[in-house]
Amino acid sequence: MTTHPLRQWLTQRGWTQRQLAALLGVSESLVSRWLRGHRSPTAEQLAMLVDAGADVVRIAVDARSDAEAAIEIARRVPSANLCIDLQENYRLAELLAPHVAKLRYNPGHLHHHEREKPWREKVRFLAEQALAGDCAMRIGVNCGSVDPAKVADYEKGDSISPMLDSALEHAAWLDELGFTRYVVSLKDSDPLKVIEANRRFAEARPDVPLHLGVTEAGLPPDGVIKTRVAFEQLLSRGIGDTVRVSLTVPNPRKGEELEAARSIIDDVRHGRTRSVVHYDRSGLNIISCPSCSRVENEAFVELAEEVREMTRYAAEHAITIAVMGCRVNGPGETDDADLGLWCAPSYVNLKRGEESLGAYPYDEIIPRLREELDALIATRG
Ligand code: SF4
Repeated sequence: MTTHPLRQWLTQRGWTQRQLAALLGVSESLVSRWLRGHRSPTAEQLAMLVDAGADVVRIAVDARSDAEAAIEIARRVPSANLCIDLQENYRLAELLAPHVAKLRYNPGHLHHHEREKPWREKVRFLAEQALAGDCAMRIGVNCGSVDPAKVADYEKGDSISPMLDSALEHAAWLDELGFTRYVVSLKDSDPLKVIEANRRFAEARPDVPLHLGVTEAGLPPDGVIKTRVAFEQLLSRGIGDTVRVSLTVPNPRKGEELEAARSIIDDVRHGRTRSVVHYDRSGLNIISCPSCSRVENEAFVELAEEVREMTRYAAEHAITIAVMGCRVNGPGETDDADLGLWCAPSYVNLKRGEESLGAYPYDEIIPRLREELDALIATRG
């Protein structure tokens, strides 16, 4: 998606949507509508992905204006099977379900709004909307946003069991509701965790289709390699029904995700999997998100590339650096990395583990990251 001129203008001047809304005396959602009024690039990108062979295309929506834009996009590109990522606003399902092929919800996000309402009621609402709208659903469990109640039930170092528990619980509840048209995904940025989580789920519920993906796999070729590690182990065991390769590449190059997916599937089909029998986690690991509609500064992809270039000297060190595109998931999804960057419209936040080290302009962050990386290497010897 190209950046809307108004968003560029806001970003360059350090304005937020909220500030502009206050100045103009209009609602924030109206500003959001203006920003998203430039809809055709999304439809064009969608058509490009369909042409590249995407069977399902996922779009994230946060607000009613996003949902209306998604419906318009579904109308403009009827050949696309749209999967809508409901993010935190699960009630938008009512509007969207009749127009799209699938709704995706994240069990962890259901706790962010209407906290007093039990999650089972929210899922019941989603299932009713999906039934009424004749669409499918995905229970999308993600390592960075697991249901907090599940996390509390397990040891701190065990990140797989809470994901698994959450996915199994939601699947059982949909079964109880009589809603059977659903698929489950369990994603992590670590391919070995993706393998374990999906193997354990498939053992417990071999009847439920699985959508596979390594989230925040990062820039190619590393992102493709990480994904290949996971997919080879799973697909070769008959686990996995749909796949997504998530790469940090500019939007016009998103077709590369499809090419990578096809090539991995083809290799597995023909037994060409011997090249990846061991995943070496002893060196530098850079994870970065694939970007989505929440990216507020498209310099993010360039930044991820600069991080990779600058950090090449540290290739031998077992350090994880996370680069995330937005302020919604960025703060949480960088917690487990040794060093983390998450992008706001006009500055980049730097973290060491869970500790914040401050916010820096885009043109100052790389030397600052280098300082922290050097310090970390010196500490670890
Ligand atoms: S971290 Fe990246 S992929 Fe995840 S919501 Fe933010 S911009 Fe989108």
